[in-house]
Amino acid sequence: MDNYIVSARKYRPATFQSVVGQKSLTTTLKNAIHNHKLAHAYLFCGPRGVGKTTCARIFAKTINCLHPTPEGEACNACESCMSFNEQRSYNIHELDAASNNSVEDIRSLIEQVRIPPQLGKYKVYIIDEVHMLSSAAFNAFLKTLEEPPHHAIFILATTEKHKILPTILSRCQIYDFNRIGINDTVEHLQYVAQQEGVSAEPEALNVIAQKADGGMRDALSIFDQVVSFTGGNISYRSVIENLNVLDYEYYFQLTDNILQGNIGKCFLILNEILSKGFEGQNIVGGLASHFRDLMVCKDPQTIVLFEVGDVIKKRYLELAVRCENPFLYKALEYTNECDLNYRLSKNKRLLVEILLIRLCQLNSSPSSMGDDKKKIAIEPLTAHVASPEKSPEVKQYTENQQQATIASQPAAQKETPPAKAINERLSFSLKDLYEDKKEPVQTQQAPAALESQTNDFTQQELNAAWTAYANQFLKEEQHLQNSMLNSLPRMTDKYAFEVSVYNPEQQQKLTERAPTLLEYLRSQLHNTAISMHISIDESAKDKIFMSDRDRYIQMAEKNPSLHSLANEFGLTLD
Ligand SMILES: [Zn+2]
Repeated sequence: MDNYIVSARKYRPATFQSVVGQKSLTTTLKNAIHNHKLAHAYLFCGPRGVGKTTCARIFAKTINCLHPTPEGEACNACESCMSFNEQRSYNIHELDAASNNSVEDIRSLIEQVRIPPQLGKYKVYIIDEVHMLSSAAFNAFLKTLEEPPHHAIFILATTEKHKILPTILSRCQIYDFNRIGINDTVEHLQYVAQQEGVSAEPEALNVIAQKADGGMRDALSIFDQVVSFTGGNISYRSVIENLNVLDYEYYFQLTDNILQGNIGKCFLILNEILSKGFEGQNIVGGLASHFRDLMVCKDPQTIVLFEVGDVIKKRYLELAVRCENPFLYKALEYTNECDLNYRLSKNKRLLVEILLIRLCQLNSSPSSMGDDKKKIAIEPLTAHVASPEKSPEVKQYTENQQQATIASQPAAQKETPPAKAINERLSFSLKDLYEDKKEPVQTQQAPAALESQTNDFTQQELNAAWTAYANQFLKEEQHLQNSMLNSLPRMTDKYAFEVSVYNPEQQQKLTERAPTLLEYLRSQLHNTAISMHISIDESAKDKIFMSDRDRYIQMAEKNPSLHSLANEFGLTLD
């Protein structure tokens, strides 16, 4: 590895044939040369590092070649080709407009344009980053571009086509260079690795290609960097460590747990990723790409958009079978929403956690999530919790009843079939229903009962589920949503929590909501024994967390004439 030459320079293509990822464009150029249909000005547009300057140089060499091949390539052997390859040809002039953008720079270039070539037929002027020319320089150049000498050909290159003046655009043949596809990049890196005697796992090269985002020059420079820290043995693991890329394994694990509705496990995975120093937004973005890849690989029409290595491809295809399209559409919508809200969010971690909760819900409830009746109806039926003293869970939110709930737990739990994971029970299929009905202990008397679960949960998980409920289902009930978001629950026992609100009105509103709220929390946290106690925080009477109505009531208490004033003028508060 001592005399390692930077790959981007060493493997710069010398023929159109060897340009990676721009096939149709190089074919068009070759045909034009072959048919002697050359224009005086070309505009090469496209992102950085995709081969614009390289193609311009090959073009200049090819049109000056004394013995072009039947395929329209330069022979790379004649005197002209040799001078190009040894960088001593006088028929090529390169101007970097990013650093030489004054009128004087353009004038000295125009001076040279007049002089005909000594050897070969054409002089080629490449102006890189042409959009950087000053407008005075542009104007000076325009005259030459309008009436160029017969032997002069201009190739203008830009990453920003929209900044080119229409007067220039209209005088050029325009070629749009594409980002280079992942597979093309990987293939080329494989070639370079082989030539350099470097061993490289295809998955590792795939990561490099993704990181380079369509630019071959970047891909090769990342490749060089990786070669230098791995001593020429490029493994997937070494690449993700060195490039600080999140292992795709995490996305597979997350998706697995999302499909099972296992919120707790998702939280733990998220925690592990964050503890490795990754940003929440990278995780959200990565998850979005992951869902996107799962979606495009399901459909034979879109599979061309799916660019991953072969080993991982197999895993994607297997996982995609388990993901229904509606799930993927929603998952993409939620991850995208989270991504958009990320910058503005004050509690970014919670935002990602809420995303995970929402994703987990997608599969645990095939019906609309706001519809409580449907949700209850799809729970598999069991006899164990159908005991009449327990069924109207509507009343379970007071502390006293919680005692009764816990007391009736153990018997029920013991008989729960261990093979059925909690999350499986939450998902529903006709088959489940059918099988459950065959069991002799089954009864259809208790459609509203949840099978008992007593998973442990943390304060943080409780907060996340609480917030998710407020944000999802209370959009139309702004006051209640605000009181829920302002009064987070506080765990008082393993399965019990307390909420302190600021006034009786809030207490009443929340109490009315308690049945559906509790049902939601129990299902999210896999714990049917959760109970809630709502109290009024007397000390907080003067706190700012009040609705307009609360404030009005408080003011009216202090000053009863406010009521008559309101009545007099017919003022209302909604
Ligand atoms: Zn030649």
